[in-house]
Amino acid sequence: MPSAPKSSSDREGVSSLIDTHCHLYMTPLDKDLKAVQARAKARDVAQIIVPAYDQASWDLMAPYEMDPDLHTAYGIHPWLAHEMPEAAQRDEAMAALGVRLDKTSPVALGEIGLDTKIETSGLVEQLPLLEAQLQMAVERGLPVILHCRGAFEEMLKALEPHQGKICGVLHAFSRGPDLGNRFIEAGLHIALGGSITRPTAKRPRKSALRLPLERIVLETDAPSIGLHGVFPAEAEPAHVADVAAALAQIRDRSIGHIANVTTANARELFNLPCE
Ligand SMILES: [Zn+2]
Repeated sequence: MPSAPKSSSDREGVSSLIDTHCHLYMTPLDKDLKAVQARAKARDVAQIIVPAYDQASWDLMAPYEMDPDLHTAYGIHPWLAHEMPEAAQRDEAMAALGVRLDKTSPVALGEIGLDTKIETSGLVEQLPLLEAQLQMAVERGLPVILHCRGAFEEMLKALEPHQGKICGVLHAFSRGPDLGNRFIEAGLHIALGGSITRPTAKRPRKSALRLPLERIVLETDAPSIGLHGVFPAEAEPAHVADVAAALAQIRDRSIGHIANVTTANARELFNLPCE
């Protein structure tokens, strides 16, 4: 695996990287945030987006709200859909989300989505929760952070009424470029992560090669997803440098070019400050 540049002085004119999806409040990352951030900075990963996905995780976000290099997002994950099967319960949760978004400075609404691989709820409970949150994101002018497993057609259908008004990212994308391009046509960016570092992962590496670079952002989804040679529990924002290196190798471009384009994409999409 190509190694990251040694120091920022080697990187004149090259943007720092952004991890657009990391759950810093989850163990083991929450044990020593300062060290996690220092290791990220040592590999030129300067900014991190932290998506919270339920009321318990929303309550852990206060320290990240205070740090100019960390950016927050709030949403209700489909894994929580079973807790609100009735419309009145969903309305209550949506009201709480609205209050939370008012009180904080989120860069996105998420993570939200659809997941048919879980047993606690089905699309009957998940779809209305997703639709309400897509609507809220459009009303507030916030990009969305989308989680999708096993329900890509349903997700595209849910996005359809918002065409031209919605933006955001389909995160942890590990499918092929044909599907990726359909989400790009729907207005989204595609977040590539650890899967493209695996030499045998044909589909995501094909996406890394073929999808338009101006619609790609980078992420780790640490500590949920690992990389080639890195267990999920060991993954952290510093590893975005390895995702960038893999993308550079697959596309036969310099890491600097990949950093400049993907960081510009993330800054524009999430309206992030330059460092
Ligand atoms: Zn996530």
